[in-house]
Amino acid sequence: MAQTILIVEDEPDLLSTLEYNLQREGFETRAATSGEEALRLAEHEPRPDLVLLDVMLPDLSGTEVCRRLRHKDPLRRIPVIMLTARGEEIDRVIGFEAGADDYVVKPFSVRELLLRVRAVLRRAVRTDETLTEETVFGRLKLDPSAHRCCVDDDEIVLTALEFRLLSTFLVRRGRVQSRETLLNDVWGIEADITTRTVDTHVKRLREKLGEAGAYVETLRGVGYRFRSRPDDVLRTSEGEAA
Ligand code: CA
Repeated sequence: MAQTILIVEDEPDLLSTLEYNLQREGFETRAATSGEEALRLAEHEPRPDLVLLDVMLPDLSGTEVCRRLRHKDPLRRIPVIMLTARGEEIDRVIGFEAGADDYVVKPFSVRELLLRVRAVLRRAVRTDETLTEETVFGRLKLDPSAHRCCVDDDEIVLTALEFRLLSTFLVRRGRVQSRETLLNDVWGIEADITTRTVDTHVKRLREKLGEAGAYVETLRGVGYRFRSRPDDVLRTSEGEAA
């Protein structure tokens, strides 16, 4: 079934360009020209798989629309890409205040936008498949709804990316994950970043997790694998303590 994209844009020319190109790529589209209309259409069944959201709208700002979507179950899971003008505050758009998944700066090429759309959709599907409820693995506890990670009972503060990385590992435990797979699924971009970035982030994640970091094994020349059972590590540390 075709995926539906809700386009929220008050400039008629840009709106029709987006509709035309997204439809040509096989998406179904729905269009809103104001924030209120966007919020109404977002709830309409079938719910959109993604929202393209202009920041400057005649009534509500795009960031406000995004914030309201994020506070409304089940709309909070719909990925949002913001369309911003140069000079608008990207941090505010992408950061905690609005919680968008990605952004493109106007004027953008259709090709660039389509790449972002596909990347965000791919990431969203994968996230849906992943951790949906609190999961305990040995000394590690992950609560995706609260975005909380604990080792023993100490909370570990993780960035959004580290959290996604750890959730991905945990869901795919026991399975080898190449750096390319992780780049694709966790970062979700046909990346101009290198696979070395994955190593850097895994290293930092391990450091934050302390002893529980040993759940993530390095397979030299291949990638990583999260242990399939936690007791291997526990047994080792108990053995050392005894
Ligand atoms: Ca506008």
